[in-house]
Amino acid sequence: MELDLLVRKCIKALSPYSSARDEYQGKASVFMDANENPYNAPYDRYPDPKQWELKEKIAHLKNIPKEQIMLGNGSDEPIDLLIRIFCEPGVDNIVAPDPTYGMYQVAAQINNVEYRRVRFDENFNLDADKLLRATDRNTKLIYLCSPNNPTGNALEHNTMLKIISSFSGIVIVDEAYIDFSSKPSLLKQLNDYPNLIVLQTFSKAWASAGVRLGVTYASKEIIALLHKVKYPYNINILTQNYMLHLLDDYPKIQNWIHILMAERDLLEKELKALPCVEKVYPSDANFFLVKMNDANAAYRYLVDRSIIVRNRNNLPLCANCIRITVGTKAENQMLIQTLKELKIEFLEQ
Ligand SMILES: *Cc1c(COP(=O)(O)O)cnc(C)c1O
Repeated sequence: MELDLLVRKCIKALSPYSSARDEYQGKASVFMDANENPYNAPYDRYPDPKQWELKEKIAHLKNIPKEQIMLGNGSDEPIDLLIRIFCEPGVDNIVAPDPTYGMYQVAAQINNVEYRRVRFDENFNLDADKLLRATDRNTKLIYLCSPNNPTGNALEHNTMLKIISSFSGIVIVDEAYIDFSSKPSLLKQLNDYPNLIVLQTFSKAWASAGVRLGVTYASKEIIALLHKVKYPYNINILTQNYMLHLLDDYPKIQNWIHILMAERDLLEKELKALPCVEKVYPSDANFFLVKMNDANAAYRYLVDRSIIVRNRNNLPLCANCIRITVGTKAENQMLIQTLKELKIEFLEQ
């Protein structure tokens, strides 16, 4: 892979905005360089644009050098930035399996970049050769989501590694659900593959979707490109401080993951026993894709009873499927109890 040849010319030529906090990073007693109002500490000051303190903690936890980390406003920020760095609008294209997380396509469309879908097989396995055949010389990025949303399965490591090693562009592996997976993260392979980018997020296992923090791991060179293009102050002080505290509470997070995985096993058994359920797809995440007798009817029935699931009926390979997130024990029981009564209603008709 030649990173220099993959990057858009305008990004290569870009001299990024240099903020006051970039130019002077040391300690001082008087800051008169950024036109801030000196009252209302600590929120009066612009945040660290590179978030070094936070990155150090994440680097320590994940055993990845902090120079190989970029922090974003959720994973959605790097999903968009990577397209803007590598894909020339109207010329280049992106390839991804189908069905998968909807933001890849939305970000591609916003940037006027062609989005090519390669269908999974009926068990949501990916054929590496089929995916690679969909690429051409203008394919800059491949997005892989593992465990995949909305199907719940983790992709085979060998399939992903074959794609990463055969493709001359960039492969982004979105590991939003990796903490729930029986398969290991690709982070350990990061330094074996200069074209690999791994996305993780605090939105799912870390129970902090409202805080908006996503982590991108890649080579120093790719991370430098992301820093060049992102908004200078993309991570605010509230988020940085909150996350510095939460990272000290890692055992609490691990305990939540543990509880959710036990609840996932229970929910799977109970869902499989329901007459309105045809199939529960295996899950490496904190949700299930469930094939119902009638997804639209089940969805409306649950909404009427104030239980919201995601109707995925209209996605390819997902006819009559709903996606159900694992909740608390009480929430899961409420769902199961409500779905048991759905059976009774059908029988009475
Ligand atoms: C939920 C989810 C994310 C998280 O996005 P954030 O912007 O970090 O909240 C990323 N990728 C996938 C596949 C997801 O399902």
